[in-house]
Amino acid sequence: MTYRAQVEDIRFVFDNVAGFGQLRDTEKYAETGEDLTDAVLEGMGKLCEEVIYPTQRDGDLNPAVLENGVVRTSPGFKEAFAAIAEGGWVAVSGPEEYGGMGLPLALTTAFNEMMTSSNMALGLCPLLTQGQCEALEHHASDEIKALYLPKLISGEWTGTMNLTEPQAGSDVGALKSKAVPNGDGTYAITGQKIFITWGDHDFGGNVCHLVLARLPDGVAGTKGISLFMVPKYIPDADGNPGVANDLKVVSLEHKMGIHGSPTAVMQFDGAKGWLVGEPHKGMAAMFTMMNNARLGVGAQGVGAAEGAYQKALEYAKERQQFGPIVNHADVRRMLLSMRADTFAARSIVMSCAVALDMAAATGAENWKARAALLTPIAKAFATDVGIDVAEQGVQVHGGMGFIEETGAAQFSRDVRITAIYEGTNGIQAMDLVGRKMMDGGEAANELIDEIEAHAETARAAMPELAEPVWQACESLREAVEWLVSQTDMNTRFAGSVPFTRAFARVLGGHCHLKAAMAEGGEGARSKLARFYIRRLLPEHESLLVYAMAGADDLYSFSLDEMGA
Ligand SMILES: Cc1cc2nc3c(=O)[nH]c(=O)nc-3n(C[C@H](O)[C@H](O)[C@H](O)COP(=O)(O)OP(=O)(O)OC[C@H]3O[C@@H](n4cnc5c(N)ncnc54)[C@H](O)[C@@H]3O)c2cc1C
Repeated sequence: MTYRAQVEDIRFVFDNVAGFGQLRDTEKYAETGEDLTDAVLEGMGKLCEEVIYPTQRDGDLNPAVLENGVVRTSPGFKEAFAAIAEGGWVAVSGPEEYGGMGLPLALTTAFNEMMTSSNMALGLCPLLTQGQCEALEHHASDEIKALYLPKLISGEWTGTMNLTEPQAGSDVGALKSKAVPNGDGTYAITGQKIFITWGDHDFGGNVCHLVLARLPDGVAGTKGISLFMVPKYIPDADGNPGVANDLKVVSLEHKMGIHGSPTAVMQFDGAKGWLVGEPHKGMAAMFTMMNNARLGVGAQGVGAAEGAYQKALEYAKERQQFGPIVNHADVRRMLLSMRADTFAARSIVMSCAVALDMAAATGAENWKARAALLTPIAKAFATDVGIDVAEQGVQVHGGMGFIEETGAAQFSRDVRITAIYEGTNGIQAMDLVGRKMMDGGEAANELIDEIEAHAETARAAMPELAEPVWQACESLREAVEWLVSQTDMNTRFAGSVPFTRAFARVLGGHCHLKAAMAEGGEGARSKLARFYIRRLLPEHESLLVYAMAGADDLYSFSLDEMGA
């Protein structure tokens, strides 16, 4: 099996669905011409196909281990990461003044997708480093930026995010880690963090931890949290890794998947840290990193789906049972569902990336609102698609899907975490119907207006595709109206997950319709649009019924009535 990076499909989505071309009209991204975009996508694709993909299975079979306090990574990972760093791919969107390429986040998102198809466990290391660069760029002092950004962007050093503690998961505000001023502008950080991705490694350089902790005068909850840079080695006067800081990896988790990614329990014992941003404003700074990472995790869902699809298709062409199984109706149904949903998820993730880029390039409120609306949808839907598609990939393989050697199961195990970390998909859905609807549904309705307007223009050429998309918009609009009229937040939350999926289903229909229109109604993309709109889009109807069912029946059960 080989992996083929979807350069052509990503380029098609950029040009015909996600509106990447608008970026070239902004001053910030005026230089991102077609030639440059093509060269970057092809360079990323070649690296992932030739260098990263061959390490995928080794990472699964030989997990990272902790030996005498030192993390040893899986075979081939050190060399593969060095190739990523040498190519300048760690932070292609990093600011140019610190050595980055200053390219749109949409291109970093393409890289994160390809990295995941080829080796998700390894891809997490640059993904977290990218998020850290963005948080530092926006919130750190000039001294911290000058010291850390060039080294993180070049891949010489790597970055982590330290939020989670045993008692503080989704409820980050419950964290207990403490930061005490040392009197010299630095702070002593003490506490234990769990589940820290790439908390340590043997790649050399430095591991830079962004840690959330509470200052002595920090109030309880999220409002009293501050953010600190806590490096593994304290940089010396020349900015090189100096003495070891007072922190260590206590243990590594044994996980269901992404075995090659060291997930660490970290202990900070008065470790030296530097404040990033203002005291008590740590959550705002960390949100920059988390939003970036949420989009990155959405891209992981797409990447896993693409990898699983390619593997399943290849197997289905070769496997003979009453002839090649690819010719059986049910196998075709599975494969085409996988392909149609992967395209929808890729389109939504890329549209979100372009909205974030447009917001950064123009500062316009409408782009900020669009990006904020799309982020939870992109994260939740694309990761659900990754999980569904990988699961169907196992089914296409029959018994061989359950046997580890084919690698189909690895995609399924690896991608499962994407619905959990960076805010579970339940938390994303609550964000959509809660914070993102505080505007009375304005941003949602603006997007629905756009989809309807596009469906209207498409109606003459393709009525059988445009009409169902238009109708779906009307149903979605009614659900938005119902949601914003609910003052009891639990009533909204009870239906938030089906609502988020319904919204994504409709957006997926819009993206497929755009693709069919761009193709002129004939060809593989138009056939796939027809498949999606006829078979997958109708799911939004039952999802919206579910979304508006309220919370009363959920709470009508006593705990005894819920079973033993
Ligand atoms: C492999 C891996 C890597 C990770 N990497 C990192 C990392 O690098 N840095 C880091 O800081 N953390 C990391 N995490 C932690 C991850 O972000 C958390 O696991 C996640 O945020 C969920 O927290 P939790 O596990 O405590 O689950 P809980 O918060 O206990 O949630 C359990 C369930 O309850 C639901 N729930 C919780 N609160 C609510 C609510 N208010 N309303 C409705 N439902 C709710 C959740 O959706 C979930 O279904 C990682 C975790 C894993 C497993």
